[in-house]
Amino acid sequence: MWVEREVFVMGTTLRIGVRAPSRAEGVGAIQEAFHAVRRADSLLSTWREDSEIARLNRAPVGRPVALPLELYRLLRDLERWSRETGGAFDPGIGALVDAWDLRGRGRIPSRIELAEARSRAGMARFAFADRSHSVTKRHEDAWIDTGAFGKGAALGAARTALQRRGIESAFLNFGGQVLALGAGRGAEWVVPVAHPARRDQPAMRIRLRDRSASTSSQSERYVEPEGRRLGHILDPRTGEPVPAWGSVTVVAEDPTLADILSTALLVLGPEAALVWARPHDDVGVLVLEELEGRVVARWNHGLSPFLVSDSTHNRGG
Ligand code: AMP
Ligand code: MG
Repeated sequence: MWVEREVFVMGTTLRIGVRAPSRAEGVGAIQEAFHAVRRADSLLSTWREDSEIARLNRAPVGRPVALPLELYRLLRDLERWSRETGGAFDPGIGALVDAWDLRGRGRIPSRIELAEARSRAGMARFAFADRSHSVTKRHEDAWIDTGAFGKGAALGAARTALQRRGIESAFLNFGGQVLALGAGRGAEWVVPVAHPARRDQPAMRIRLRDRSASTSSQSERYVEPEGRRLGHILDPRTGEPVPAWGSVTVVAEDPTLADILSTALLVLGPEAALVWARPHDDVGVLVLEELEGRVVARWNHGLSPFLVSDSTHNRGG
């Protein structure tokens, strides 16, 4: 039977549906998954003071902070993905988030302020020690923003919890990032991809099985200081908010990777994102742009198996 539950966590809604032999087993497995997500939150939340990442973020400069091994490994992975995306993805952007006041009402920093913030931002502002799995801050204002990968990491933890309980078919929607496990009502789950500017309208559909899909766009969240609309995604290479050019959806087996890459490829922009995606066809990449009122879709080979054909009046890359 199909069992569904919803919870509010990490500032958004997490809905989990599972196929289970009985209601009790389904509910038990979902509770286990919720527990795993709360644990991920206790490691990764930058909105509470008692998380492990918050402890690192407020540590004094020069003092090593020993982290739980799984968090240390995750940060190491993130550092690698930062390099592999040419610095487009960089969770060490905290000082830039502050400079633009993206967590408040928004503000436009002066050139000097922006240059200073850039010198305090980036994963290079953190030193890693593999033996003690500790991390040391190199600048007082440096902090790690988990917004681009936290939901993905939590979805990964939820999936592990469900599988441990023997669940083989499940569908998870965590504030828009989805994870499909096993078969849906048919052979796969069919999921809408939102219009790049009007997030409540579906633009295309993809089908998923044992995959996660994450979409990033600047229309999702923004502030508007001095009448200028600033999206929540920054280009760490310039320190500026990325222009609202469209959206990137990434389909991957690993939900953390899908989350990381959708943010990174949005930063790269449509052309560079597709150039990056071409040889990386172990992941599916869908780039949507709104041009003269029309949605133009382009994608890499990795996405083709997931496309629902009725939605393809555009071209693959
Ligand atoms: P997402 O919605 O997954 O694309 O993540 C966006 C969030 O990630 C933002 O709200 C910031 O918290 C954070 N972020 C913004 N720009 C970057 C970036 N270039 N690299 C890593 N994290 C970022
Ligand atoms: Mg992301």
